[in-house]
Amino acid sequence: MKILVVNAGSSSLKYQLIDMDGEKELAKGLVERIGIEGSRLKHSAGDKKTEIAQEIPDHEAAAQLMLKILQDPEFGVIKSTDEIGAVGHRVLHGGSAFTASVIVNDAAKQAIRDCFPLGPLHNPANLMGIEACEKVMKGTPQVAVFDTAFHQTMPPKAYMYGVPKMYEEKLHVRRYGFHGTSHRYVSRRVCEFLGISPEGKKIIICHLGNGSSLSAVKDGKCQDTSMGLTPLEGLLMGTRCGSCDPAVVQFIANNPLKDDGTPLGHPISVDEVLTIMNKKSGLLGISGKSSDCRDIDSLADAGDPDAELAREMLVYGIKKYIGAYAAAMGGVDIIVFTAGIGENNADLRKQVIDGLEFMGAKIDAEKNKTRSEAVISADDSRVTVCVIPTNEEIMIARDTLDLVTTGKVRDN
Ligand code: AMP
Repeated sequence: MKILVVNAGSSSLKYQLIDMDGEKELAKGLVERIGIEGSRLKHSAGDKKTEIAQEIPDHEAAAQLMLKILQDPEFGVIKSTDEIGAVGHRVLHGGSAFTASVIVNDAAKQAIRDCFPLGPLHNPANLMGIEACEKVMKGTPQVAVFDTAFHQTMPPKAYMYGVPKMYEEKLHVRRYGFHGTSHRYVSRRVCEFLGISPEGKKIIICHLGNGSSLSAVKDGKCQDTSMGLTPLEGLLMGTRCGSCDPAVVQFIANNPLKDDGTPLGHPISVDEVLTIMNKKSGLLGISGKSSDCRDIDSLADAGDPDAELAREMLVYGIKKYIGAYAAAMGGVDIIVFTAGIGENNADLRKQVIDGLEFMGAKIDAEKNKTRSEAVISADDSRVTVCVIPTNEEIMIARDTLDLVTTGKVRDN
């Protein structure tokens, strides 16, 4: 069966068509600037690449264009949309309602809508993507795969915040965690790769990209994760500040600065502070130059003190979480690096693992040169350290296939 994987944002729609017979990617693409001037589609199928610039007023038009190019005589890979067996959608927030992926029906759509306050930027866009595909592919099953679902096994001691309990009971204020599809894929794949069972294993997964999160996975189940109610909590990220004293929000709201560092002269709202914390902080905010870890590395290597500080803060934060999760699980057997930084930045991996010899983790500099699936720890390291490239699309496609063929997902 061919499965279409869709990730809809507020002005974008990313897609990948996968032949589940052999789990082969047939084509992929991105519709950008939906509803904005300059909208276009970028599409590739194997070596063939094309770009179409045209007006794309809404998600339905984007979905239509996606189907058109997938059936194109030159760049397409299917003759008819009937070849698409089902569509799997990435949905950011499933709240506490979803512990696994589901077939989309009216109740599921309502539950996604109920999570709008928890994922105000993403969930409405994700639902627009679902509804657009429903319209242009009438009768094709749609499946929703949630970024939060894998983390639903966390115990209350890990997901509760210390605010009055009624906020969790009435308003669902708690830790949810994100990147769950990636954490789930990587936690399964690393065990397959090492030829072991997840049972009895304590794994720490470092998903380090533009957004970053760590998770503690014991017996294949998530015990804790660093992102929270929103993806702002946890590590220092590309443009997000990660965890800090909540009182910082009030302090910045009352004493805001302009971009040049001079006082703004009047207070700003909590929403405006959160915009600073989500979009102007992290590697970008500390370095003052870039949110991209490659730029931070080049700047730091050239002696830029702010970039060096940003890199140190990132490494220190990852080390602290590894220590915390090892303590929480009573040890650690495997540490995995994944996503853009985790898969590609060997220096950062070395800096994170160096100094963790006390807990049995030792890196092998030669093995660490990899960018693909590999063990990178030394032969005498008690903790196995690995690189496992993430593949959220395949996880979404597998869940979609499972739900439409057997009614339940394997190995949730
Ligand atoms: P992601 O959000 O997973 O796409 O990751 C984006 C981050 O990964 C950025 O900070 C990039 O600097 C980093 N990254 C992506 N590709 C590379 C690469 N080839 N080498 C080093 N860093 C990379």
